[in-house]
Amino acid sequence: MKIKVTVWNEFRHEREEGKPKEIYPEGIHMAIKAFLDSTGEFEVKTATLDEPEHGLTDEVLDNTDVLIWWAHKAHNEVQDDVVEKVHKKVLKGMGLIVLHSGHHSKIFKKLMGTSCNLKWREANDNERLWVTDPAHPIVEGIGEYIELENEEMYGEFFDIPAPDALVFIGWFKGGEVFRSGCCFNRGYGRIFYFQPGHETYPTYYNKDIQKVIINAAKWANPTKKIDRLIAPNIKEPLEKT
Ligand code: ZN
Repeated sequence: MKIKVTVWNEFRHEREEGKPKEIYPEGIHMAIKAFLDSTGEFEVKTATLDEPEHGLTDEVLDNTDVLIWWAHKAHNEVQDDVVEKVHKKVLKGMGLIVLHSGHHSKIFKKLMGTSCNLKWREANDNERLWVTDPAHPIVEGIGEYIELENEEMYGEFFDIPAPDALVFIGWFKGGEVFRSGCCFNRGYGRIFYFQPGHETYPTYYNKDIQKVIINAAKWANPTKKIDRLIAPNIKEPLEKT
C-alpha cells in the first residue's frame, strides 16, 4: 500500500513577485510533491494556509500517514484548533516532517516544548551536511555528506530538546554548525526536523535533499496508529499474590 503523504505549505512567498516565485512557480509544496510522486511509493496530496481550515480537515488528516510542513512568515496565522488536531494526530501515530523555517511553527514548538530559536544569516553561505548516523534509514543512499552551494545559515544554539537520533550536523562557511537533521518520538508518532530549504535557493531540486525527504517519509510512516489516547486504570495486577 502506498504511504499517504500530505505536503503542507504556507504558500505566501511564492505568490509574490521575486526569487521564491522564480524558483518555485507552483509553490514549494508542488516541487516536493513532484519528487515524491516520481518514486511511485506515495499517494501525495497538498494543503496550504489560505485554504479553509488550512486544507487540514478531519478527512484530510484521517487520510494522512505523514505530514510535511513548510512555513516561514505566517506561523501565527495558523489556527490553534488546527494545531491541536495535528498535535493529537502525531501522538496517535501520524508522522511529521518539519522543514527549514518550520522550526518556528506552532506545531513544532508545541511538540518540542521549547522556543526552537536559532541563529540565522542570509549571506549565501555554502553548507556541508555531515552524516552523523550512517546506519539510519533516513540517510540510506547518501554519502558522507551533502554539499549545498547556497543555503541560509542556521546556527547553534538551537533551542530544542536533545533529539532521539541526530542524523546530520550542518557546517556553514561562516564557521557555524547546526543540528540539521533531528529525529524525535512523541507518543506513537515520529518527527523529523530537516534544516535545508530556504525559499530563495533551489534546495528542493537537489537530488540528495530529495532522497533524504523520501527516506524520512518512509521512516515516519506509522507502524502503529491508535484511535484515541487512553490512560487505562488497571485494577487487577498481572501477578496474583
Ligand atoms: Zn529561510
